[in-house]
Amino acid sequence: MAHFTKLSSEQLTDCIAHLSTPLQQQLKSIVCRVDFKACFTSEQVQTLLAHYSASDKANKQQLCRDLIPLAQSYSLAPISSFYVGAVAMGESGKIYFGANMEFKGLTLAQTVHAEQSVITNAWRHQETKLVMLAVSAPPCGHCRQFINELNGAGDIDVLITKQPSTRFADILPMAFGPSDLGISARLMVSPDNQLTLKSDSVLAQHALSAATSSYSPFSLSPSGIALQTPNGLYLGRYAENCAYNPSLSPLQGALISLHLSGDSISDISSAVLVEHKESKVSQEKTSKQLLSLISDVTLETLHCSVK
Ligand SMILES: [Zn+2]
Repeated sequence: MAHFTKLSSEQLTDCIAHLSTPLQQQLKSIVCRVDFKACFTSEQVQTLLAHYSASDKANKQQLCRDLIPLAQSYSLAPISSFYVGAVAMGESGKIYFGANMEFKGLTLAQTVHAEQSVITNAWRHQETKLVMLAVSAPPCGHCRQFINELNGAGDIDVLITKQPSTRFADILPMAFGPSDLGISARLMVSPDNQLTLKSDSVLAQHALSAATSSYSPFSLSPSGIALQTPNGLYLGRYAENCAYNPSLSPLQGALISLHLSGDSISDISSAVLVEHKESKVSQEKTSKQLLSLISDVTLETLHCSVK
């Protein structure tokens, strides 16, 4: 089930060949575990950092940079063949992977960028703030706008391959952010949207819980999705953006979680979307379109109400 069981031993070795032999062995012992879900616990991070000898911050920066090829191995890029990997360290000391996902047959607007993926992964693991972000290619403008939605975004230490570290605020000058619209909420600091749903379905209640903690301070259109496979349950929360277009749909969020957990999109057996009937923004039509492209499962849409 783990992602790295899908990589051959040679491919995995290639991803970490640039590291010392003891560090390679330590990494393999973690990422080959069946319960590895593209997230290193703070204890695992400490065992990895013990293999470095510079200052604490420099060691963390180098570790994040060194893990990029492993994050890239999660990339699904059938259109561009441009494999982007992102590695983020949270305030908790945990490290997360993210990678781009493309969907052949739909518009490019459905593409998930690696930075969106790693932020979704960190949010899923209850992280509320990122301190470091390493990426295999410079973040595009779309991603800089997405990152700017985060709590304390300006202070994130951004590490671009072959470039010195830089503060995020320095690569997005004169930024447009939530505060320009009078909003104090920030992505990854999950709100409680106070929603209720009349349904006895366990999957529907999980989708409701995703909608309840989704982020939509601009359109006030909370939504969440639950995907079921034989191996697990994956939730996706709407992640809205003050500039609208970089927003990430709940289905995209759920697909990120499913893929980074080592599960297969083709194994989705049921899918439930929960949103408000009267919302200004509805996920139903585009989610059905994306799901019908990648799965035979029909999306069930249920309408919640405010408590
Ligand atoms: Zn991007």
